Amino acid sequence: MTGYLMRNIFNKKLTSELTEIKLTESGFSINKPFGAKPKLFDWKEINSVQFSENRNEVIFEKADKKIGLKNNNIGWYEFIQNVPTRFKEFDFNYVSEFMNSLKPCGVCGIVAVKENVCIVCETITWNNEVAENEIEFIKSKQSELYSELIKDGIEIKKVAEPEHGFKADKNWKLYI
Ligand SMILES: [Zn+2]
Repeated sequence: MTGYLMRNIFNKKLTSELTEIKLTESGFSINKPFGAKPKLFDWKEINSVQFSENRNEVIFEKADKKIGLKNNNIGWYEFIQNVPTRFKEFDFNYVSEFMNSLKPCGVCGIVAVKENVCIVCETITWNNEVAENEIEFIKSKQSELYSELIKDGIEIKKVAEPEHGFKADKNWKLYI
């Protein structure tokens, strides 16, 4: 799985990981890669929205069609936080518990660490088993993460900004 930050850089042949969900004024759009036109959906035409049993997917129903959105789709975490409350079958408690359980990532500065791996940049959280020095570890991971930007002469932002529905860590530091 490629982190959100890297997907715009590497053109992977994984349709699911490059599919992007965007919120619109009255619904959302699903944009599959490789030239397909985005599909627009209005909440009004959706009959139900539910998580799959393993919670890795959201399945919504339109007419008699069931459409699944996977958690590696770009924008999925923002999507699950914006499902209208009228969809009573949707597990809103799970969404808030999940988002509240996330921890800040020292490497990219986004509050997206779940079970010691960042959902956004996919770095493993530092502990004294992966490296001796935490700052050195973060520094080397930041160099890896931003290497393409550095190569292209693009300035890396020094303050983390919220993205893809995740909060940013105000205390985040860029060490490179
Ligand atoms: Zn991260």
